[in-house]
Amino acid sequence: MSLYSNVSDETVDQIAMIIGGEEGVMIIDAIRNVKEITVEEIAEQTEIQINQVRKILYRFYNHSLVTSRRFRDKETGWFIFQWTLQQELIEAFLTGMKQKILRKLKARLRHELDHEFYRCESGECPRITFEEAMDTVFNCPVCGEPTKPMNNEVYIDFLDVKIAEIEGELEA
Ligand SMILES: [Zn+2]
Repeated sequence: MSLYSNVSDETVDQIAMIIGGEEGVMIIDAIRNVKEITVEEIAEQTEIQINQVRKILYRFYNHSLVTSRRFRDKETGWFIFQWTLQQELIEAFLTGMKQKILRKLKARLRHELDHEFYRCESGECPRITFEEAMDTVFNCPVCGEPTKPMNNEVYIDFLDVKIAEIEGELEA
């Protein structure tokens, strides 16, 4: 269990993977169970080169998934950065991602509702819109065979379900 209970470790790992790849997941794992950690400590634990740790940390930082606090080392006088995971901002990141997906799905649904689609019988060529079919005199632009109107209710149903699902998650 991590210190952050609202967002599951698995979800955080998925986001870390998207932004920082496998090394990103290892770095997040190192930060997860402590309050604060330095780049050097992360490098030591993960055996990832310091420069690479720094690079990935800044990528996380740009997405507000981590934050840093700096203070001066009493012995050396150098600045030390302590890194922390920002749980509440990970939630914000997730919400932002879902909103983006929702916008795309809604645009996709609008496209499905606004167009008629045609398709040849090969089962391999992509479908085309009525406007595109007009240009090729209703022949498939890929294989040249005649096209037929196709029912897109399956697509519409799928999109409806997906949209309701994500809207439900966003409202929760
Ligand atoms: Zn075709």
